[in-house]
Amino acid sequence: MTGTPDPQIGDRYGKWTVVGDVIRLKGRKHAQVRCECGIERNVQVGHLKAGESTQCRQCSGLWVRLPDDAVTYDAMHQRLRKELGSASEHECYDCGRPAQQWSYAYYSGDRERLELRNGCLLRYSIDPDDYYARCVACHIKYDVEITAEVGKPVLPDQVALAA
Ligand SMILES: [Zn+2]
Ligand SMILES: [Zn+2]
Repeated sequence: MTGTPDPQIGDRYGKWTVVGDVIRLKGRKHAQVRCECGIERNVQVGHLKAGESTQCRQCSGLWVRLPDDAVTYDAMHQRLRKELGSASEHECYDCGRPAQQWSYAYYSGDRERLELRNGCLLRYSIDPDDYYARCVACHIKYDVEITAEVGKPVLPDQVALAA
């Protein structure tokens, strides 16, 4: 905790402008922000204050948007690894230990896609900003908790992506 006040509507953090009240997702404060390009996201307040998040990943040049229909589950995960790097290059979003997998955050609205494979419903987002690096333990814990919270079934192999 930095002790500084929460972001207020209208505050600027790089290309982000705060457009909504601070909300809690999984017990962490998130600010609702809009990038200069118009994309809206929920970004963790701590990351905003620390200057770790200043724009969306598409504006950062890390990501080129494909036509939505072209983004299958496999294609999305290949792109995550190729363009954002291996999750193991990051710290776990929850515990700070080395991460191993990209974890789908949910709450992605119309960016969410479903793909049925071998009787399993794969749930994913076509937007890289909807993924966080997590260690395996935190990933499993998050998926169980989030699916309980949002009322969705727990799915096997959610977005597990071995590093
Ligand atoms: Zn942007
Ligand atoms: Zn962890």
